Amino acid sequence: MYEVAHFIGGARSTGSGRRHGEVFDPALGEAVGRVALGDTEDVNAAVAVALAAWPAWADASALRRARVLMRFKVLLETHQDALAACITREHGKVHADALGEVQRGLEVVEFACGIPQLLKGEYSEQVARGVDSYSMRQPLGVVAGITPFNFPAMVPMWMFPVAIACGNCFVLKPSERDPSASLMIADLLHEAGLPEGVFNVVQGDRETVEALMRHPDVRAVSFVGSTPIARSLYEQGAAQGKRVQALGGAKNHMVVMPDAELEQTVDALMGAAYGSAGERCMAISVAVAVGSVADALVARLAERIAGLRVGPGDAPESEMGPLVTRTHCDKVRDYIAEGVAEGAQLVADGRTLKLPGHAQGFFLGASLFDHVQPTMRIYREEIFGPVLCVLRVPDFEAALALVNAHAFGNGTAVFTRDGDCAREFVRRVEVGMVGVNVPIPVPMAFHSFGGWKASLFGDHAMHGAEGVRFYTRLKTVTSRWPTGIRAGAQFTMPTLE
Ligand code: NAD
Repeated sequence: MYEVAHFIGGARSTGSGRRHGEVFDPALGEAVGRVALGDTEDVNAAVAVALAAWPAWADASALRRARVLMRFKVLLETHQDALAACITREHGKVHADALGEVQRGLEVVEFACGIPQLLKGEYSEQVARGVDSYSMRQPLGVVAGITPFNFPAMVPMWMFPVAIACGNCFVLKPSERDPSASLMIADLLHEAGLPEGVFNVVQGDRETVEALMRHPDVRAVSFVGSTPIARSLYEQGAAQGKRVQALGGAKNHMVVMPDAELEQTVDALMGAAYGSAGERCMAISVAVAVGSVADALVARLAERIAGLRVGPGDAPESEMGPLVTRTHCDKVRDYIAEGVAEGAQLVADGRTLKLPGHAQGFFLGASLFDHVQPTMRIYREEIFGPVLCVLRVPDFEAALALVNAHAFGNGTAVFTRDGDCAREFVRRVEVGMVGVNVPIPVPMAFHSFGGWKASLFGDHAMHGAEGVRFYTRLKTVTSRWPTGIRAGAQFTMPTLE
């Protein structure tokens, strides 16, 4: 059993040591580690060192801050395999997928290396005679990131590279399910020359989050996780005048038009529905089969599911690993039972999977439901497991109406060969991230990531220009250097000419 500590002020810390949680290897179903669960004292300690480090870090030039991130990027590339192995051990996803997650996080680091360009302000010369006006964006202070289990490296990297490049100090509260990646990242930042206190990790759970939310010196909170918690943290933050960007859950639809290329569509659905055991906020969990395409689509999916290779994430032949915890695995099983009870047709039942040598592992095979109705719980709620629901609709308008009526609006995709149909879908769909013949349209680092409706609370998406805006505040200066002439006191609203 290994120990997972906090990282405060540039070093590992056991903190108050009052509370601990177990860390599991989901492929074995066994506890392999013990993680510290931070309390108010630990949060106060981390915020205090971050606040102490802030003036010097905010004062450093943007170029100097960028150069630390450039060194971090090189170190991350060197250690990406070890980081991916660490993710696989505690999360369960297959190694190649974990490497992909590290790569997508690294792209945000690359983006943040361009911070001198991104922080350039605006300047208007001679807004009146002898008067200039300019604006700049300045850091907020201490900011916090609270992240989910499903991307233990990438989601923190959506946040902290931009936050610290902008001159803030950061406190990360990773998921208690797979906490070790956060410490590897902290070590690499330290090795890259990041001053002590600029990046800190407080391990923990709900109690730790509550202490962060209450802390008056935490100026902004970035959250990614489930919708009820996202909504609640957004409300708490607003009540205390904190900036909050809170990304929540999802139910992502792929609309399959009758003219879509069938084999490409089936490939796309297999990867997007069952990759990472469906534990992705951008996973496709609903296929909307339009018109005549449904029978062929369901038949091909059933064939492909029969050949899907489920196994431990560190076995090179595995395509899909286990779920993260036994509790979550049981919850997904319950949803499958519920779908049957609700009258959906279970075409493939993942509950029948048997993996020799992994009887205790949190494995579930791929499940496929056909003839799902919009009123069913398996359609309305986020299952977050390897369960794909097929809904049949007569035409494009019915498909679009279905997507737009759903409470979530994270990602969606349309598969078609018809440019007009695709354009119409892109324009009218009420979802934040849209793919055209791309099943998981995760925006690149230099664009921004964020959904709509119950998938995001707040005004800013993550990274890209939105991230820079979230982690900075605007200051606008009006400046005059008068020489000799006195205008006297003015008692009216100043207007310039
Ligand atoms: P979760 O909401 O259970 O936990 C997220 C974080 O909140 C963790 O750090 C956890 O310790 C903390 N937390 C848990 N309970 C809390 C409470 N009551 N009060 C305050 N904090 C609490 O989410 P998860 O199970 O780790 O991750 C899966 C969820 O995250 C899914 O709903 C998924 O859709 C969502 N997600 C969304 C995105 C997105 O970009 N929209 C990305 C990844 C994951």
